[in-house]
Amino acid sequence: MGVVSILNADLHCHSVISDGTLTPEALAARAKQQGVELWALTDHDEIGGQQRAMEAARALQLPYLTGTEISVSFAHKTVHIVGLGFDAHSPLLHEGLARTRGGRDQRAQEMADQLAQVGIKGAYEGALKYAGNPDLISRTHFARFLVESKVCQDTSEVFRRFLTEGKPGFVPHRWASLQDAVRWIVESRGVAVIAHPGRYGFTANEEFALFSEFKSHGGQAVEVVTGSHSTAEYVIYADMAVEFGLAASRGSDFHSPQESHTDLGALPWLPGHLTPVWDLLADRVH
Ligand code: AMP
Ligand code: MN
Ligand code: MN
Ligand code: MN
Repeated sequence: MGVVSILNADLHCHSVISDGTLTPEALAARAKQQGVELWALTDHDEIGGQQRAMEAARALQLPYLTGTEISVSFAHKTVHIVGLGFDAHSPLLHEGLARTRGGRDQRAQEMADQLAQVGIKGAYEGALKYAGNPDLISRTHFARFLVESKVCQDTSEVFRRFLTEGKPGFVPHRWASLQDAVRWIVESRGVAVIAHPGRYGFTANEEFALFSEFKSHGGQAVEVVTGSHSTAEYVIYADMAVEFGLAASRGSDFHSPQESHTDLGALPWLPGHLTPVWDLLADRVH
């Protein structure tokens, strides 16, 4: 590899406030121990852990950026938009995220009804038991229940056999619009980032539309180095960042010591010809 940006930034991970298994404090300690030099906690559709993460990071002298990961519906798929460096007191962001979380409980009950039809009983209660935040019941919590009840051996088997399009337990859901999600972040003085673009399975046309529309709404960055990308995808999305004039982000998407194959900070460096997203956020580091 050529010149790289040598900052161990990890700007994507999850705590018990969404679908991770560690508390914000335990994540801060783990990030520090793993050599992370700039950290953000990015819980799904939630910023309820930001104060705790920020305080824990401060106590460890670990530079911190506020974060979240917003669920968006785009081209009949779910896309994730990470927000970084926003004002965590922004009423616009609070209201938008609360609305985005809103349908999760009803969706979870419909997921459980579908699972019951294939003989898996008690999935709603079973999943809820794993949800540290009852407002944020997610497919990950169902996956943990299906492993616990020995229907599957691990969570990746769950997402191959259940909970995804065409499989039992998949309930299509209408999340935020791309325009709204980007606007909530940008108007809260944050930077919007397309999360793990390699994961969506979009056609070239759909992907072009995602990047163009994201940019036209004021989005400024894309995840290039993430636990969800292959080495080949680092190159593809580095090129896309250049093509669309976007800054580049780096994050593990760590959820759990038991489930995640990429630990906090344990990622290749960002390629040096890209603008690191933290260059846009220097004045927002806590
Ligand atoms: P939800 O927001 O309820 O749709 O749940 C999405 C979450 O499920 C993601 O943030 C991941 O944590 C998890 N997830 C989705 N697909 C997979 C997969 N193929 N393997 C492992 N985890 C997955
Ligand atoms: Mn998740
Ligand atoms: Mn995601
Ligand atoms: Mn994530």
